[in-house]
Amino acid sequence: MLVHGLRSVLSSRCLQLRQKSKMSSEVYLGQSHFDKVLCVILIFFGCRVAAKSAQYATVHGTHFLALPVARMALSFAIKRNVALIGPAGSGKGSYGKIFSQRWKIPLVTVSDVLRQHSHEVESGTLVDDTVVSNILRDHLPKQPYILDGFPRTLKQVHLMEETWPKRLQIDAVVDLDVPKQVCKEKLLGRRFCTKCGGNYNVHAVHILGFHLPAQLPQDCDCNGEFFTSRPDDVENVVDERLDAHFRETEPILDYFDTRGRLLRFAPYMGYEDVPRFHAAVETWLNDMEARDQEEASPNMES
Ligand SMILES: [Zn+2]
Repeated sequence: MLVHGLRSVLSSRCLQLRQKSKMSSEVYLGQSHFDKVLCVILIFFGCRVAAKSAQYATVHGTHFLALPVARMALSFAIKRNVALIGPAGSGKGSYGKIFSQRWKIPLVTVSDVLRQHSHEVESGTLVDDTVVSNILRDHLPKQPYILDGFPRTLKQVHLMEETWPKRLQIDAVVDLDVPKQVCKEKLLGRRFCTKCGGNYNVHAVHILGFHLPAQLPQDCDCNGEFFTSRPDDVENVVDERLDAHFRETEPILDYFDTRGRLLRFAPYMGYEDVPRFHAAVETWLNDMEARDQEEASPNMES
């Protein structure tokens, strides 16, 4: 809570400083009482990295450095394992990468893990929930991660809870909340260019509050001439795939929702919603952190 408050004060202060330095011909050094008080607060509350940077900057007479550095040190860090769930065509692959880059945690894609460790699956056996769960458990990173492709069924959730060490378990789920109709339009619009190898989408979707532009070649002069679509991006296969997704994930989402561990995010504007996504995830995880701390120490006065 305190760190959160400090961070927003620092953010707005940094913006002010940047604006001032643009306006004046001299570099604005931020040597106001306000900045010094902020540094003292940082030192007082034991934000050690921030405090050291602030001290360094103060000693060297460059107060204006202290604030951005302190801000970085106070920045948000993911401390939990998060699963990203979303139907095909929702932009899950891209949002997974965005998540991983923003908070610098590894993105674990289940299909990749299974491919890399396929030798661990006895030939001829079906890759069922138990096999997937075991392979994943044995190859997850030791630090917080974002997981794409698990859990797909409620049975996988139970297997995780029963057979994974606690620190490896997923304890928060982000659902990309995109309705079937929108995903279907997007999946049927997918094209692959056989000349330049680019992936495109010829469907612009403007329904149910969603505004997702088509993705057409920019630098490629082939102009759609060599477009082809994947054999399984046809209507009946797409319908089946999406129906199966919603049927199987709804119980998982309910399960995490009743435990207060679910964030539903609708990327109405596609990639333009990335800043809103960042803010939503940070607020949600901060609230969860605060709630968990409260529950862990119900008798402690704040
Ligand atoms: Zn092309």
